[in-house]
Amino acid sequence: DIGKSADQSGCNAFVVGGFVRDLLLYRKNEDIDIVVEGDGILFAKAFAATRQARVHAYSKFGTAVITLDDGFKVDVATARTEYYTAPAALPEVEKSSLKADLYRRDFTINTLAIQLNQSRYGTLIDHFAGQKDIKDKTLRIIHNLSFVEDPTRIFRAVRFESRFGFSIGKLTVRLIENAIRMGVFKRLSGARAMGEIIAILEESDPVPSILRLHEFRLLAALHPAMALTETTTQLLMESRKALDGYELMAEDSNCLRWLVYFMVILTPCTSGEAREVCRILRLAKWQEDLCVRERQQADHCLKRLAKELPLDNSILYARLHVFKTEVLVYMMAAADSNRTRKAIAHFLSRLRSVRPEIQGRDLKNLGLPPGPRYKKILIQVLDAKLNGLLQTKEDETAFVA
Ligand code: ATP
Repeated sequence: DIGKSADQSGCNAFVVGGFVRDLLLYRKNEDIDIVVEGDGILFAKAFAATRQARVHAYSKFGTAVITLDDGFKVDVATARTEYYTAPAALPEVEKSSLKADLYRRDFTINTLAIQLNQSRYGTLIDHFAGQKDIKDKTLRIIHNLSFVEDPTRIFRAVRFESRFGFSIGKLTVRLIENAIRMGVFKRLSGARAMGEIIAILEESDPVPSILRLHEFRLLAALHPAMALTETTTQLLMESRKALDGYELMAEDSNCLRWLVYFMVILTPCTSGEAREVCRILRLAKWQEDLCVRERQQADHCLKRLAKELPLDNSILYARLHVFKTEVLVYMMAAADSNRTRKAIAHFLSRLRSVRPEIQGRDLKNLGLPPGPRYKKILIQVLDAKLNGLLQTKEDETAFVA
């Protein structure tokens, strides 16, 4: 259907980018990007009509999103060249051919395309030797000004290198070093830099990439206080273990992995420096507080736990329930003994979700006059329950009575 739709709308259509790359690497990828020489929106509408799919078109950009009935999405773009009016600024767009469209991409491995038109269905198009680079496991930019045009590509290089187990080509490494030396990051907005950092920290094992960023002095280029130490590196590796452990035991993981790693990266900074980094990189206020204030409280709590353990469940709960999940995972990583680690894991897996079954309504039925006492009573019930003294609601009622 798709080839026919391309033919009928008088255009050439190609699947491009990550999908083709991952096809050659035998990796799963569910993001389909189609580039069209001609009118992308017309093609999207023609194809959608064959499937009774929905289309959202953005005529200003010549792009469209097709949503198939199973929810699967296909992005369609009209082939375009981007002109950078100023280095590191957002580009301006104009219609053009596939080759020119692919030329503006980041790495050769992302420039492969597969034609969809019926007569050439399945033909692999390789304008920039992307196939060879996939075979050689090499990341190479397409032209020498690539990193100056868009410094976020440096982060992408580091991310892909680790994700695919590739190496950045020699010339590409030199161009990265030059770009950093030239200070390209001064012109990159904090929010865009952070977007790329988050993408790296959300990879399944970001630690090698973080080390690589450090090697390129990229962290320090964003803020001089972001220098990686031996201790931080160790803590990053422990964080990965703690995160994996947490995700195994959590029923629904709502933990932001990137935030745990980012908190760790900031550990060598003073509070002032850490806050400055967070502001430059445009983190939300609660994220900044988590990385600075809550982390300090966590360090303090860890010292206290090391002296106090073993503790009754109710006291352990009192010490830990104030912390967000990310901070608790950080604490598991930063704990200096297995005993502390186990206590935190015990809190996360067993204690955190415990609640009294009895409610205010039940207290009223027991003849207790409503008021601030209720809260105290419910805390006492919770403590007793945490300590294993109450099993059922009847136990709780008897306890209150
Ligand atoms: P991921 O798996 O992380 O989504 P991806 O490469 O499959 O990576 P995107 O990051 O969404 O997917 O990028 C889609 C395509 O757009 C890529 O194949 C790449 O060629 C291109 N692209 C994305 N960012 C840039 C950039 N900063 N400069 C040039 N091309 C880019």
